Amino acid sequence: MLEITDESPGLKCLWRLRPNVFIFILIMTKFDALIIGGGLSGITTAHRLAKRGCSIAIIEVNKEIGLGANYANGAMLVPSQSSPFNSPGVFSAIAKSFFSQNSWLSIRPKALPKLANWGLEFLINSKASNFETNMRCLLNLGIYSMEIFEEYFKNYGNKFDAKKCGTIKIYKDKTSFEKQISYNYLLSELGLEWEILSPEKTISLEPHLEGIFSTLAGGILFPKDAIADSYKYCQILCNDLIKSGHKVNVNCKTTDLITSGDKVIGARTTTGDIKAKNTILAVGPKTSMLAPKVARSILVRPVKGYSLTYDTSKANDLPSYPVIDEGYHVGVVPINGRLRAVGFAEFANYDNNLNPKIVSKLDRFTKSIYPNLTDIMKGSKKTPWTGFRAISADGLPYIGETSRKGLWLNTGHGHLGWTLAAGSAELLADLITGKKTSVESSKFAVHR
Ligand SMILES: Cc1cc2nc3c(=O)[nH]c(=O)nc-3n(C[C@H](O)[C@H](O)[C@H](O)COP(=O)(O)OP(=O)(O)OC[C@H]3O[C@@H](n4cnc5c(N)ncnc54)[C@H](O)[C@@H]3O)c2cc1C
Repeated sequence: MLEITDESPGLKCLWRLRPNVFIFILIMTKFDALIIGGGLSGITTAHRLAKRGCSIAIIEVNKEIGLGANYANGAMLVPSQSSPFNSPGVFSAIAKSFFSQNSWLSIRPKALPKLANWGLEFLINSKASNFETNMRCLLNLGIYSMEIFEEYFKNYGNKFDAKKCGTIKIYKDKTSFEKQISYNYLLSELGLEWEILSPEKTISLEPHLEGIFSTLAGGILFPKDAIADSYKYCQILCNDLIKSGHKVNVNCKTTDLITSGDKVIGARTTTGDIKAKNTILAVGPKTSMLAPKVARSILVRPVKGYSLTYDTSKANDLPSYPVIDEGYHVGVVPINGRLRAVGFAEFANYDNNLNPKIVSKLDRFTKSIYPNLTDIMKGSKKTPWTGFRAISADGLPYIGETSRKGLWLNTGHGHLGWTLAAGSAELLADLITGKKTSVESSKFAVHR
């Protein structure tokens, strides 16, 4: 280790100045890729580009990587849930939400003005034909994503609580059960694997659902789905990048983009300018705020979701499957000693207050599907959380170059950002490095 003594004033001075020296080096370096946003999209894109030999800098406004929409998300890697948010029934769900206390969706009046253009496109895309096309695109990307994830499962799976357990979706009314089955037939040809479960078979797979046996119309098992902790995954990838000499700047906010002619050549940040050959915006719903001119046509809005995590580490007999209730749009996921209920869609701009009514609905819902676990849940520590999904008007992410050369986007993954993270990042890394892509990229293009 370098020892600083009174006899070496030059070195001592340099040592004191080291944070400034670091910032100076950062400003002078031109990176192959500058990634703005250290969530799932940003960190995974960084990792895929680093694998191709690119030099990387990441900028994240929070004090750590992975504190965004992924932090306590549903942990589900579910290509099976590839239906965009705006399914054909969404209009009536919105209408009902104004009158019903039990809706999975709510719109705060103050959020309405910002939803105008987006809302219209959102409703147009709920038309059955658009919905089905977009669902196929999401499934394709989801299945590809699971292939890319294999590498992460193999190398670090046990460190981020990854488990290939499949998902069970339960239905209490026959109509929605049959509708899902008809969608599944459409998706089988693209590689979706699924199995119809009678109520008896549902209970034999997940005996903890016994308490709701009499209410079940049936279930569907999606055997290829998985679960994993996305916060731990972000930390692992971040450490990997730092170890390989890449720069991760936390507590650092991007305030503007730096342009030269029609090209974006880096970003202005609260700790100085950073130059790069390619700048990637992976800031979730904040995309159009950071690049209003180039991203005018980007229709992404924040839709607030909730989770409630029970610390069930002291219990020894817990559910083994993630279970999604189609009627409530809520999932309950066992993840390494915890049970996490997740769901709801609240249009509330960026208000990140926890709505106590929604938190208690999640609690009630979880106890209602697992009545036999009520005592365990009552006695366990509960942690509520809320995050903003970046929802695009057509339900598809934006992955590709903008009209400004050198500026790329990876955002708008909605309720599927964890599932699609690896595939989206690989697709973008291929586009940036000029490689042939393994999935059709035009459906996800920024100007589509
Ligand atoms: C309740 C809930 C449950 C979910 N469950 C699942 C699930 O089970 N399965 C699934 O597939 N998906 C799920 N998702 C979706 C998934 O978590 C998100 O799609 C994903 O986390 C989005 O990642 P991102 O990196 O694109 O965006 P974000 O997580 O929003 O990351 C953007 C990052 O950019 C940073 N940033 C923003 N502005 C700036 C700036 N100016 N300068 C620097 N940094 C900036 C932010 O701080 C943030 O860290 C869920 C989401 C929610 C909310």
